[in-house]
Amino acid sequence: MDVIIAGGGIGGLTLGLMLHRAGIACRVFEAASELRELGVGINILPHACRMLSGLGLREALAAVAVETRENAFFNRHGQLIYTEPCGLAAGYDWPQFSIHRADLHTILLDAARRELGDDRIVLGHRCTGFDQDETGVTVRFDDPATGAALEPVRGDVAVGCDGFHSVFRKQLHPDEGPAAYGGINIWRGVTRMPPFLTGATMARAGSLKLGKMLVYPIRNDIDATGNQLVNWAAEIESDTRKPNDWNTPGRLEDFYDRYAHMRFDWLDIAAMIERADMILEYPMVDRDPVDFWSVGRVTLMGDAAHPMYPRGSNGAAQAILDADLLTRLLASALSEGGEPEAALKAYEAERLPATARIVRTNRSVPPDTVINLVEERTGGEPFARREDVISDEELARINDNYKAVTGYSKEALNRPGVA
Ligand SMILES: Cc1cc2nc3c(=O)[nH]c(=O)nc-3n(C[C@H](O)[C@H](O)[C@H](O)COP(=O)(O)OP(=O)(O)OC[C@H]3O[C@@H](n4cnc5c(N)ncnc54)[C@H](O)[C@@H]3O)c2cc1C
Repeated sequence: MDVIIAGGGIGGLTLGLMLHRAGIACRVFEAASELRELGVGINILPHACRMLSGLGLREALAAVAVETRENAFFNRHGQLIYTEPCGLAAGYDWPQFSIHRADLHTILLDAARRELGDDRIVLGHRCTGFDQDETGVTVRFDDPATGAALEPVRGDVAVGCDGFHSVFRKQLHPDEGPAAYGGINIWRGVTRMPPFLTGATMARAGSLKLGKMLVYPIRNDIDATGNQLVNWAAEIESDTRKPNDWNTPGRLEDFYDRYAHMRFDWLDIAAMIERADMILEYPMVDRDPVDFWSVGRVTLMGDAAHPMYPRGSNGAAQAILDADLLTRLLASALSEGGEPEAALKAYEAERLPATARIVRTNRSVPPDTVINLVEERTGGEPFARREDVISDEELARINDNYKAVTGYSKEALNRPGVA
């Protein structure tokens, strides 16, 4: 079996590594002709970490990432609402890593080049469409620099891992409308600064209406004086929709006033954003779940299959879980002489409803529901006792529900037999 993977992002490279280890030949075709440092921070939650550890990458991740130890929630006055341990500190068998997206991509790319061989990771190939018949799939490409058509590539199966603006998805669902805008803009940046709180805390403060801030460190000791590279994301409700490209530059003056008062004893948020190295702007967009991903020998994976709001740190994790199931199903089809078409349908039957639930949950009850509820119940005023505003049980229910929906409850992950 020869699998063509369109897109060498987090999902495509993970799929390449997993297929290769399962003895299935594959090639990854990536539109970019060089791989640049894109985006900022990302979290690898325990369920995704388990998969990447299975690929032998845990040490490489630990060497460059920050191992996150707690989630903390604060109101807009900097008062602590709730804190919970995460990753190993919460008793998971796998850590949670906060990492620069470029570091994660480099680890995956180096591993893919080492294991699959350089010639199987093909850059400068932008997929423009595919044709299929009973015996295989032909994928067409052009050169993104010139637009010139390149030699088409034939394989047994093709997987569209080509991200939010997927050409594969467009061909399978030509009538799907534009992405759905959630009425929220996100400004993201990184700042070099001393550690705050535990030095391994993922903190959320504020509220969506008046300005939410998510902050976590992604690189330790960047200058031999103990400073960290800290990733932050400011979310504000807004009627103006910006282009959804991860690298659109953002401007401090468009959002700073919402955070100017946030100078807390545990973190001076205003100073942190004033001193940012760079700022990017991104709209909160997703797409309604579609009713199929697989047609014959072609399927979708990752953001191409289930673009979701970047809330709850789950988009890349779900791409990694897709890759795991797809690999296992294709490997059994291969060993049992089954048809790849049936494996792609079985993959869709399990992963499409599971990820559709996450797309909907990210819209309605993401983890930051906690800070929004507190804002609503206090009318935005400081509270005297947090327990009078929201109980421990309600907090635990909201957080446990999100973990169960996204597949990383401790009970599910740590059970015997899960390696
Ligand atoms: C602001 C923000 C924060 C996020 N934070 C987190 C987080 O903390 N944790 C988490 O798990 N997820 C997070 N995500 C989501 C995560 O980044 C995505 O879900 C993940 O990158 C999806 O992986 P993918 O491989 O499907 O797509 P991508 O990583 O987008 O990769 C797609 C690849 O395909 C290539 N490509 C595109 N078109 C073509 C074409 N026509 N032909 C060939 N190649 C093509 C692209 O160049 C790219 O390399 C975040 C997303 C955003 C926007």
